[in-house]
Amino acid sequence: MSRIIGIDLGTTNSCVAVLDEKGVPRTLSSADGERTLPSWVSWAVNGEITVGTRARRQAVTNASATVYGSKRLIGRKVNAEDVAWFAKLAPFRIVAAPNGDAWVRVHGAPISPQEVAAHVLRRLRQIAEEALGEPVTRAVVTVPAYFDDAQRQATRDAGQIAGLDIIRILNEPTAAALAYGAHRVGEGRRIIGVFDLGGGTFDISIMSVENGIFEVLATGGDSALGGEDWDRRMLERIVDEVFDQHRVDLIGIPMAMSRLREACEAAKKALSDGRETVIQLPFLANDQHGAPINYERKLTRELVQELTNDLLERVEAPCRRALADAGLTAADLEEVLLVGGMTRSPAVQDIVAKIFGKKPSKGANPDEVVALGAAAYAGILAGESDEAALLDVTPHDIGIKVGDSGFSAVLPRNSMLPCRARRLFATTSDNQRFVSIELYQGESTDITKNRKLGQVVLDDLPHGPAGSVRVELVMTIDVESILAVSARELRTGKEASVKIRPSGGLSQREVVEIINRRRNESSIVSTLPLEGGNVMRVATREQAAVKPPDDTDK
Ligand code: AMP
Repeated sequence: MSRIIGIDLGTTNSCVAVLDEKGVPRTLSSADGERTLPSWVSWAVNGEITVGTRARRQAVTNASATVYGSKRLIGRKVNAEDVAWFAKLAPFRIVAAPNGDAWVRVHGAPISPQEVAAHVLRRLRQIAEEALGEPVTRAVVTVPAYFDDAQRQATRDAGQIAGLDIIRILNEPTAAALAYGAHRVGEGRRIIGVFDLGGGTFDISIMSVENGIFEVLATGGDSALGGEDWDRRMLERIVDEVFDQHRVDLIGIPMAMSRLREACEAAKKALSDGRETVIQLPFLANDQHGAPINYERKLTRELVQELTNDLLERVEAPCRRALADAGLTAADLEEVLLVGGMTRSPAVQDIVAKIFGKKPSKGANPDEVVALGAAAYAGILAGESDEAALLDVTPHDIGIKVGDSGFSAVLPRNSMLPCRARRLFATTSDNQRFVSIELYQGESTDITKNRKLGQVVLDDLPHGPAGSVRVELVMTIDVESILAVSARELRTGKEASVKIRPSGGLSQREVVEIINRRRNESSIVSTLPLEGGNVMRVATREQAAVKPPDDTDK
């Protein structure tokens, strides 16, 4: 059996790790030494696909066909509030699939976010295969704790398209906590916070850990806050300064903007270690007289903090809200773990200490801990590690519609899989002929804010006055997260049932079609020159013929 890799499929960056021979998780780097892969995919007009750093660089000249942040779209409807926000911002087109899902349009062709994510996963798989020198087919992939079933299933589908069997989806804060060894410390129940500030998103999770069981008690965050906002603030300041000094607007010069953006990010990173740094960009642009602008500027930590103070302050409210949602105070937390590249910044560490009243714990590489935790978990699943097994839990409440728009939870979130719950209902009108039970997932008491999963209808009920006919509802979720719901009328024993597999928006047939389409395209792509490590190499394993099964998912 091949090794199981651990993958952090991130909004801005992704990372792959594996358990080494000594049972220690380690990240795998690409041939050019990169330990994280920008989750960017770029399509050239000739069909060539580029993934990672090169794709990100191409964004300047090929913005409309360079897709990032596909994780914001996966398993989502185009009309969801934050998807609409992202669509306004993104330089590529986000369109509605026939079922209302958010897709992207590249060179006129609609592409599902699952397929975009599959390119990133395929590249990570390739990095792993090259580093390990063996084929890789199985992975544990992490997702945010708040991902619902559709987003989780869509992530699984992306794996299938990439030729990876995602044997388990793991919550990111759980993975981080595993990498920090949170389950090994002390006895009894421990409450920990996982503070994750990455390139594009901020997540806070409050968790409990007891006997190898990780429970997410509350999550919160700001999906529009990340390290890129810090870079943008610095960039804007410099663009203004260059304009004041040289009367040249760099915004209209894509190459200069791209170089400046990279330089700002590098300066921000340098300021996490030192108190000042210098940006030097020779021949950044030409001034009004055609003379080259050899840009040079000293930046201090104080200046960057001044420019970004309001961004920093935005992390506080979600942390306080998450604590309140968990019914806890900061003093209840035994530890706060730092995750995400931005938590290397001393200013971020200081605000975490201020909010939670204790110094946060720093992992060696906060941008790698999630992948490392996924690898540790892969080791547990493969039996290579004798750590306490983690138990899978339901990420959200599953329940039914009550009244016009109310929601009543039947299986509360964090129920350990497999789980089962039973409810008894009585008819509400005389001679009621049928009951229709609508099934939803979510936490809101307002049903319209939750996601509809399906419904079960039981008809031909026996005659009788209101309240005299009783229907038993049984909900079961198995270890594969498949929900089975049955409704049975108690007097006659008549029963109706449904089985709901999580759907990520693509049917099995569509997934297989994408795989086969890539197979057919591969002969064209493989004739293209391969440059560097980041050009998609034509995958081999998933090219084995796959036959579309009966389309049972839709
Ligand atoms: P992640 O999504 O976890 O990979 O985090 C990426 C973000 O972390 C990007 O905005 C990076 O610029 C930022 N980052 C990485 N290293 C550092 C550092 N040393 N100091 C500050 N920010 C950093």
